[in-house]
Amino acid sequence: MASSEQIRQRIEEFARQLTDELGEVDEADGVCWLDAVENQAIEIGDAIAAALVKQTTVQRPHGDESLCPQCGKSGRYRGARERELIGRRGPTTIAEPEYYCPCCRKAFFPADPSDRR
Ligand SMILES: [Zn+2]
Repeated sequence: MASSEQIRQRIEEFARQLTDELGEVDEADGVCWLDAVENQAIEIGDAIAAALVKQTTVQRPHGDESLCPQCGKSGRYRGARERELIGRRGPTTIAEPEYYCPCCRKAFFPADPSDRR
């Protein structure tokens, strides 16, 4: 895992590149130029937060089997299903591990997919 200093440096570099690519900020996008700059930065920050949430949920480890919440028997991992949520920073998509219980003939989504039998 990268140190917080390494992350800070990567964010600085990313911000420098984005600033070059985005060009001039339109003052009409805020009550003044600085407000418009901040509005753009907040929008980008929210998009980065949403991308981080999605990637982190995609990479979260999961077991091959999980216990069915209905009958308590073992269900098999069937893949990840995308789900739209409203997070603290607005709409976000998560990847949720889906399991299938052959007894109940139903898919289920355990609260903690790292729970293994
Ligand atoms: Zn079941």
